[in-house]
Amino acid sequence: MEKTDILIVGGSAAGLTAAITARRYYPDKRITIVRKEEKVLIPCGIPYIFGTLKSVDKDLIPDTVLSKNKLDLIVDEVTTINKGSKMVTLASGGNLSYEKMILAIGSLPMIPPIPGTDLENVFCVKKDVAYLEKLLKALEQAKNVVIVGGGFIGLEFADEFRKRGNLNITVVELLPHCLLIACDEEVCLQVEKKLSENGVNILANRRVKALVGNGRVEYVELENGQKLKADLVILGIGVTPNVDLAQNSGLEVDIRAGIYVDEFMRTSDPNIFAAGDCTRKTRFFTGRPSFIRLASVGTTEGRVAAANLFRLQRRAECPIGVFGTVIGDLAVGSAGFTERMAKEAGFDVVTGESKAPDKHPGSLPGTRDLTVKLIFAKGTGILIGGQAYGSMTAGLIANFIGALIQKRLRADEIVTFQVGTHPMLTPSPISHQIENAAEDALAKM
Ligand SMILES: Cc1cc2nc3c(=O)[nH]c(=O)nc-3n(C[C@H](O)[C@H](O)[C@H](O)COP(=O)(O)OP(=O)(O)OC[C@H]3O[C@@H](n4cnc5c(N)ncnc54)[C@H](O)[C@@H]3O)c2cc1C
Repeated sequence: MEKTDILIVGGSAAGLTAAITARRYYPDKRITIVRKEEKVLIPCGIPYIFGTLKSVDKDLIPDTVLSKNKLDLIVDEVTTINKGSKMVTLASGGNLSYEKMILAIGSLPMIPPIPGTDLENVFCVKKDVAYLEKLLKALEQAKNVVIVGGGFIGLEFADEFRKRGNLNITVVELLPHCLLIACDEEVCLQVEKKLSENGVNILANRRVKALVGNGRVEYVELENGQKLKADLVILGIGVTPNVDLAQNSGLEVDIRAGIYVDEFMRTSDPNIFAAGDCTRKTRFFTGRPSFIRLASVGTTEGRVAAANLFRLQRRAECPIGVFGTVIGDLAVGSAGFTERMAKEAGFDVVTGESKAPDKHPGSLPGTRDLTVKLIFAKGTGILIGGQAYGSMTAGLIANFIGALIQKRLRADEIVTFQVGTHPMLTPSPISHQIENAAEDALAKM
């Protein structure tokens, strides 16, 4: 039987980050990653395979990172965990014993409970090289594509597909607007407008009833009776945590929400930690269950789990949910609560807004406007959410907002926050959107 000191199950965002961190903390330990796939995709890059990259091979995590960090790799599947004897069984038949283990077994695409999802040319978003190559091939023959789900993944697919130039693309979204889980209505409207201008049809507030065809998909039927011609369908409605292995091993699991972990990323077994999409998460500020599943959250959890394997050194914060995307030339970033979600969660809110060019003077070539909206809790003045949209700086600004949220800063502290500026790199210090949005909110408090 093979032995390792630290076993990491899963070699994607959370698992790989956990392994690299474990190497930093424990230079002398044997660290082994077991993962199912020969080649690992950069999951967030998947949509770009179909327009910008044009190849699955250009979206891979290079395995050189393994040898650089002296990490052993076994391409196999862990089928059972024996917690008592600290040993796992592999699909190939072998066993592997461990001292400490991190489960980073990720998530699986959610399939809607409607007829027709098993028809040919109906694809979900699998992190699987062969599957995506098949999708790339099917796309070459397609004319009418329907994307079910107008979240950021569905929209990124739509935007990349339209770059191919020969497809009739429709996005069907259940909620009143695309992206509504991450952004307020005014931002969603801008994104929808951008997609429509670029030739993508948006059907929001519609529910898909069935996918219909004879062996291969032919059309998508909506509950209002509308039929959309489709020779290819993408299901992009979200993911579900992969918990079977943990559940079958007797770890505490919520099958919808994920593997139970504490703030040190420990599962219910003292020698097993978990990180990434497979863990149960609760929301920053409310502690309510959260369905945020992001690579940024998974890698943070991986770092925390690895640091704590042999002694507790770090705590993980509940996810704030910081995300960004680009549709056409419109960048959008969001962190924490939207105004709508904050109100639904029971907060009395005050918002502030500021729009300014992202360089100064605004006559510099390539200058674009960036709008920032900040959402504060009324009584305390604490920042609980924010969105940035317009220029390509939106993603970095959302990260900045995320940091302010995580530190629970108030509006009166944010207006005195020191930020560096430069004509080519930032807005003018006079019109810096974060300070000015905070000032705007303070004036209303
Ligand atoms: C199209 C797309 C775009 C995205 N864009 C973004 C983005 O822009 N920003 C962002 O933050 N997030 C984004 N995400 C979300 C992000 O990809 C996930 O949060 C991230 O992949 C989670 O990483 P993970 O390591 O927890 O799990 P996964 O990436 O799901 O990896 C799970 C790993 O576990 C392995 N595994 C599972 N079971 C076993 C087993 N029994 N034995 C051995 N190995 C096993 C798998 O082989 C795999 O290596 C996107 C997701 C998708 C699908």
